Amino acid sequence: MNVLIVFAHPERQSLNGALLDVALSELHAQGHQVQVSDLYAMNWKATVDHDDFPGLKPTDRLKVAAESSREFAAHTLTDDVKAEQEKLLWADTVILQFPLWWFAMPAILKGWVDRVYACGFAYGVGEHSDSRWGDRYGEGVMAGKRAMLIVTTGGWQEHYSARGINGPIDDLLFPIHHGILFYPGFTVLPPFVAYRVDRTDEAKFAVMADDLRERIRTLNDTPPIAYRQQNEGDYQIPTMQLLPDLEEPGVKGFALHLQNKKG
Ligand code: FAD
Repeated sequence: MNVLIVFAHPERQSLNGALLDVALSELHAQGHQVQVSDLYAMNWKATVDHDDFPGLKPTDRLKVAAESSREFAAHTLTDDVKAEQEKLLWADTVILQFPLWWFAMPAILKGWVDRVYACGFAYGVGEHSDSRWGDRYGEGVMAGKRAMLIVTTGGWQEHYSARGINGPIDDLLFPIHHGILFYPGFTVLPPFVAYRVDRTDEAKFAVMADDLRERIRTLNDTPPIAYRQQNEGDYQIPTMQLLPDLEEPGVKGFALHLQNKKG
């Protein structure tokens, strides 16, 4: 299988760098083809602005989604963005790897998403009408591909548990899992999260590396997060609210969008 790893750490000789090496050696051992987008090493441009749209005159007013759609369709987006889009189309599995910074992905990775996820490629796909809100949330250009996060945190696992002060890790990662990955169609695997990593020693690293190797070995068999598909009858149109009779007592917020005993 083809695997793309998008790596967002400014230091290759970091713990994240060491975990990237673990993932790469296991993927190669399994016979997979791998490409790595090492965003800092690539000096990735992280902001969307006029320069992203060569068809726009400097004095033209920039409307990002409209211009993104036009230039994606015309194949005139910048070469760096087109190269990343090609890698996404090539990949069967995409891994985003990053240290948790301020409860989110580092800005350079968010900027990769902002620029690479063009209109017509990752959003604005499919029929938009009174009865259908496009191909998204389980459908779209990335349908059939798997995706997984590799994340390291300074905080303890308990801090990210159901009653933990940081909030549950599944909630913190929901905007990435559901919003960035499931939205354009990826099947999303549970994340690999290494907690409390700032004082990692050799023994702790060995356990972490073993756990990661196991996740890499089972990329194709790991059951995905059971998000509800948008276009399978679970949501009211056009408000896109979950049908009331699919709610389970006590289940609120992000967890509503997981399949449950009622369907
Ligand atoms: P490194 O600093 O490279 O290494 C961590 C430890 O691992 C060090 O002790 C190092 O010696 C050891 N190590 C490295 N490589 C190896 C190896 N091969 N074998 C054995 N040991 C090794 N944390 C949160 O929980 N929530 C947040 O919101 C958050 N926000 C942050 C915001 C910023 C701006 C920053 C800088 C940090 C933040 N952190 C947060 C902490 C951050 O998530 C961790 O520092 C990060 O995940 C550590 O990963 P690293 O790759 O940078 O580790």
